[in-house]
Amino acid sequence: MFDEPIFRVFTYALITAITTGFGAIPFFFVKKMQKKWLGWSGAVASGIMLAASFRLINEGIEYSLYRTLIGVIIGLVFIRLSQQWLTKHKDLSVGNLQGANARKALLIIGVMTLHSFAEGVGLGVSFGGGDDFGLFMSAAIAVHNIPEGLAISLVLIPKGMSTWKAAGWSIVSSLPQPFLAIPAFLFVSIFKPFLAIGLGLAAGAMIWMVFADLLPDALENAKKKHVASIATIFIVLMMLFQVLLK
Ligand SMILES: [Zn+2]
Repeated sequence: MFDEPIFRVFTYALITAITTGFGAIPFFFVKKMQKKWLGWSGAVASGIMLAASFRLINEGIEYSLYRTLIGVIIGLVFIRLSQQWLTKHKDLSVGNLQGANARKALLIIGVMTLHSFAEGVGLGVSFGGGDDFGLFMSAAIAVHNIPEGLAISLVLIPKGMSTWKAAGWSIVSSLPQPFLAIPAFLFVSIFKPFLAIGLGLAAGAMIWMVFADLLPDALENAKKKHVASIATIFIVLMMLFQVLLK
């Protein structure tokens, strides 16, 4: 069965989704976080998400500069509208989280899921370019999903979610990868024109979220100079990590 190309694409893409859950592992060892640690974690999550967004934009530009830029604008409008919608629905709950915490949890899970759609399509399209390229992309995305799962967990766990649940939500946020990889692989020519838009859209939404939610929250819990320094260092580390993967 593994000889079937579709099955192979699905399996590799599923593995990339599962590795996202590994990002929650550190929290099995850290039980309670001090307030300033919350701020520092938010700074780490911001750095990781900003660098990941820039990677998506760079990747989109390789397909089409203008489509990527249009995608970023659509992402911005989309996340604004989603946030507005979520603010109106005050009775939201996610697991044991309620109110503003639930809204923030939903927003980060939503944004990360959105960006997985784009990555799933990217994965399928790269398998269309041959197994070697597809495998390479799967490995790159799998490894890069771990810090992204960490970023998600850094937001969810301090708000009161259990580590197992945070790991589960991290994996859920990456499930579009296997499910989008298959149609994208089968119909590369149909999906390819939308890839740049999707990558830009995801990046736009992620960047917005960093400035609207993650950094302001971090600044409430820790000193400005610390938050800014940690975010800067993690942007560079994540970019370095992405370059080393290539
Ligand atoms: Zn990603």
